[in-house]
Amino acid sequence: MLTTSSLLQKERALQLAWIRYQAYPNFEHFVEFSLSINNCTDTLSQQSQTGLHHACRQLEQQALTLFGNENSHPIAEDIMRTLGEQVARLSGLLRHYCANEGEVTEERRARQEPDTASSTVRILNSAQQVFLMGEHSVRQHDLATQLGYFGISVCEDGWELPAPNHSGLGVYLLDVGEQPATRWIPILQQLRERVPLAHIVCLGMPNEFVAINQVLQAGADHCMAQNASLQQILSQVLAHGEIEEQESYRVLIIEDSRTAAHVINRALEERGTLTQVLYDPLQTLAVIRQFQPDLILMDMYMPSCTGVEVARVIRQYDEFLSIPIVYLSSETNIGLQVEALRLGGDQFLTKPFNPVLVNAVVKSKIDRYRALRHSMQNDSLTDLLNHISSQQALAAALERLRDGEGMAVAMLDIDHFKRVNDTHGHPVGDQVIRSLAWLLKQRLRRSDIIGRYGGEEFVVGLARARANDAEEILDRIRNDFSRIVFYGADNSPFRTSFSVGVAVCAEGAPMKKSLNILLEAADSALYQAKRQGRNRVVLTRR
Ligand code: GH3
Ligand code: MG
Ligand code: MG
Ligand code: MG
Repeated sequence: MLTTSSLLQKERALQLAWIRYQAYPNFEHFVEFSLSINNCTDTLSQQSQTGLHHACRQLEQQALTLFGNENSHPIAEDIMRTLGEQVARLSGLLRHYCANEGEVTEERRARQEPDTASSTVRILNSAQQVFLMGEHSVRQHDLATQLGYFGISVCEDGWELPAPNHSGLGVYLLDVGEQPATRWIPILQQLRERVPLAHIVCLGMPNEFVAINQVLQAGADHCMAQNASLQQILSQVLAHGEIEEQESYRVLIIEDSRTAAHVINRALEERGTLTQVLYDPLQTLAVIRQFQPDLILMDMYMPSCTGVEVARVIRQYDEFLSIPIVYLSSETNIGLQVEALRLGGDQFLTKPFNPVLVNAVVKSKIDRYRALRHSMQNDSLTDLLNHISSQQALAAALERLRDGEGMAVAMLDIDHFKRVNDTHGHPVGDQVIRSLAWLLKQRLRRSDIIGRYGGEEFVVGLARARANDAEEILDRIRNDFSRIVFYGADNSPFRTSFSVGVAVCAEGAPMKKSLNILLEAADSALYQAKRQGRNRVVLTRR
C-alpha cells in the first residue's frame, strides 16, 4: 500500500508550488507546479485509488495545456481562479484519503500484534470494503459470502446511491443485470461524483465496444462481462489494493555540461527521483555498479567520448544489458539518431526538453524495466516470489538478523490437492492456489517473506517472530483457509485445507545462518503434519 505520509508530502508540495505560482506567476513556477501535480498523478497511477487518480490526471492535463512558454505566463485571471479551485478540491480529496488510510494502517498494525490474537476475521482495510449495488442476484449473495472469508466486509445497497458525505473509499460493484443502459448510466455518473475516491466495477456488461466505452466514460474503472465467473469477480476485488508502494526511481545522468546536468537533475528531483550525475564517462562502469540505476540519461557529445560509445561499452556487460538508456541531445540529424538507437540506446529526447515529458519518458521506461525484473523474480500465477527469489529473500533476511533475534520458516502444502485437480479440473485448482496466495498476502506483514515454492507448496519467512507467535499466526490462516468455499466447474461447492511445518531458529543458535537446515526442518515438520492427518500446524524448534 501507499504510505499516507509520502502522499501527504506530495500534496503539500503541490499546494506550495501553487502558492508560489500565485505569488510569482512566471513560467518557471508553472513548470514546478506542473511537475508537482505530475508527481501526484504518477504516484496514484500505481495505487488502487483510481478515483483520486482521475482527479489528479484531470488537473495535470489542464496544467499541460496551459504550459506554453515564457510568454504564456501569467495565465488569465479567470483561468487562474478555476485552476486554484481545482487544486483546493484535489488537496482536500488527498488529505481526506490520507486521514482515512491512516486509521486503517493503525488498525492493521494492531491486528498484527501477536498478542491481540483472535479467531475472528476482521475488516482489513476500509479501501477494501465492498459495496454491492444494482440488481440483487444469487451471484451477489455468493460473492458476499466468499469475500467474508477473506476478511472483507460487504454492504448490499441495491440501486440506492450512497449518501454524498460518505467517506467514499472502497470498491463498488454495480451489477447492471438486465436493465437498459439508460437506467444505469446516470446512476453510475452520480455514483462517480459521490465517491470520487472509490474503485467502481460494472458487472454484467454486454460484450460490446460502445457499451464498454460508455461505461468507462461515465466513470467506471473496470468492466466485467455478463459471463464473468464468480472467481473472476473475486479476483478483481482481491487484486484491488494489492499493489505495493514503489521504490524511488534511480537515474544516472551522464553529462559533461554542469548547466545541462543541473537542469535535468532539478526536473527529476522535483518528482522525487533519486539521481546521480557523472561528468566523466570513463567512470561509467564503476558508478553503475555502485549506484544501481534503473535508467541512464546520456548526453550525446562529451569531450572524452560520445554517448553512443558509452552505451556500447555498457551493453558489453550482461548484467547491464536491460538498463534503459535515453539520449538527451540537441542532435536533430535523424540518421545519427537512428544510429545511436541501433547501438544500444532506447530513446532520443531533443534539447531543449519539457521537464514533464522527460519525467514521463523516464517513468515509462523504468516501469517497463522493473516489470521485466518483477516477472523474472515472481511467479505468474500468484505474483508471489518464485522458488529461487524466495530462497534469496530468506537468506538475506537471515543475514540481516542481529544477535539475539530468531526467525521462523514455514512450509505450507495444500492437502490432497491432486484430488482437487482430478475432481474439478486444473483451472479450478489454479484458483485455489491463487486464493491461498491472497490470503497469505493479506494476513502477513509486508516485511514477511512469502514465496510459491513449488506447485501447491508455499514458503513463509517470519523474521524476528517467536515460535509460539509464528505457530499461532499460521494456525489462524490455516483455519480461515479451510472455511473458504470454492466452486468446481459444475458449480459444486467444496473446501480444502493445507498443512504447515514451522521451524524456528532460536536466538543465537549456531545454525542460525543456515537456511538449508531451517528449510529441511520445516519440511520434515510438514511431513509430520501430513502424517498426523493434515490440516494442521507442526512446530519444530532448532
Ligand atoms: P498431500 O496432501 O499429501 O500433499 O496430497 P497432494 O495430492 O496435495 O500431493 P501431491 O504432491 O501428490 O499432488 C500435488 C498436485 O499438485 C499434483 C499436481 O498436478 C498439482 N499441481 C502442481 N502445480 C499445480 C498448478 O500450478 N496448478 C494446479 N492446478 N495444480 C498443480
Ligand atoms: Mg555535452
Ligand atoms: Mg506437494
Ligand atoms: Mg499437497
